[in-house]
Amino acid sequence: MNKHIKSALLIALLSVVTLEAHPGHSLYQASPAHLCSSPDHLIVLALAGAALLLAACFVRRTWRRRVMKSVAVAAIVLSVVLCGLCG
Ligand SMILES: [Zn+2]
Repeated sequence: MNKHIKSALLIALLSVVTLEAHPGHSLYQASPAHLCSSPDHLIVLALAGAALLLAACFVRRTWRRRVMKSVAVAAIVLSVVLCGLCG
């Protein structure tokens, strides 16, 4: 994948951070149980992980890239596991 495609995908995925899963409540107004059980919020978590994974491709320092990839994979796995538990 060339650098321009990666950049475009990264910008698209970063827009996920600004999404509201449920209009009418902010992230801080919802209970933790709701945030961990709602598929809408879990999709946002998975997409944020994908954005972080893609962003890691642009980081030159190896240890920083590894940390970013680890956190990204953890977010994606957590969202899948929670979705499986609740769904
Ligand atoms: Zn919600």
